[in-house]
Amino acid sequence: AAKAEGRNRSCYFTLSMQEQAQTRMRLVNDLHLALDQSQFTLDFQPIVDLSSGRIVKAETLLRWHHPVRGLVSPNEFIPLAEETGIIRSIGDWVFCEATRQVAEWRRQYGLDIQVSVNISPAQLRHEGLDHAFWRSHLDTLGLSPRQVIVEITEGLLIDSGDERIQRQLDAFREAGMQVALDDFGTGYSSLSYLRKFNIDFLKIDQSFVANLSADGPDLALCEAVILLAHKLGLRVVAEGIESREQYELLAAAGCDYGQGYLFARPLAPVDFEPLLANGTDLRPGPG
Ligand code: C2E
Ligand code: MG
Ligand code: MG
Ligand code: MG
Repeated sequence: AAKAEGRNRSCYFTLSMQEQAQTRMRLVNDLHLALDQSQFTLDFQPIVDLSSGRIVKAETLLRWHHPVRGLVSPNEFIPLAEETGIIRSIGDWVFCEATRQVAEWRRQYGLDIQVSVNISPAQLRHEGLDHAFWRSHLDTLGLSPRQVIVEITEGLLIDSGDERIQRQLDAFREAGMQVALDDFGTGYSSLSYLRKFNIDFLKIDQSFVANLSADGPDLALCEAVILLAHKLGLRVVAEGIESREQYELLAAAGCDYGQGYLFARPLAPVDFEPLLANGTDLRPGPG
């Protein structure tokens, strides 16, 4: 009986592995069509200056509207796009569309907000990442490279050669763009990255913000990171601010910028625009 059971188990295991592989294959196939069939859209999440509550930047977040499955999370499809190399054409589309949108907002509202775009490990690792193409796209739009921030995650820096990454990041900066280190604090050697790579912003990962309290250890960590960043001439963005308490603790700690549901969710352009038109202070009112 034990033997039969064992066989059954391994049978279930194999089946579910097979199902997973099939689901994955299907998603990869669908991903190939997604660009041509205009299934991607961009959301923009406001990043506010914590001392004024005003929107100074917007992070671009990719959305895939799958014809059958509905909205698929980037956490699910970005890894697939990376493994298969599709991320390169998707990444170019994101960059072009995000910068086009912000150039339009600048014209319409006369505002100087910066747009940040997430860049994948697979995009950076690719030697042919076309800085010249990106630059000429900005020229065509009449958008200064100073308005563009590229966000890279710590994770990606681990498994790639330092030198090549360094060169890629320097190429962005030589072109006049700025670089943000995303999800800071979650990697293996966060501090050594600060020494090795030329960056402009550091984004404190939302896992540190989630557990912030006046007497907890995460406040000490955030305070120390902010102090360190400022000493190195970097600006700090805190991610995932959901409560008034988190906002107040971070502002008191001297954090420069913040983003999170407390201020606004990631928004479709049509929902983002009213915030631009009013020059809104997104901080919560007293009480
Ligand atoms: P990320 O770059 O760290 O983006 C922040 C994530 O936190 C977003 O998830 C955002 O919706 C979410 N978020 C914002 N405020 C809050 C909050 O107050 N509370 C909580 N719990 N979450 C908040 P999203 O949109 O699901 O994106 C997940 C990840 O997918 C991103 O993490 C980024 O690594 C990746 N991603 C998104 N768009 C792109 C893209 O265009 N290209 C690449 N390569 N990666 C992308
Ligand atoms: Mg990001
Ligand atoms: Mg992040
Ligand atoms: Mg993240």
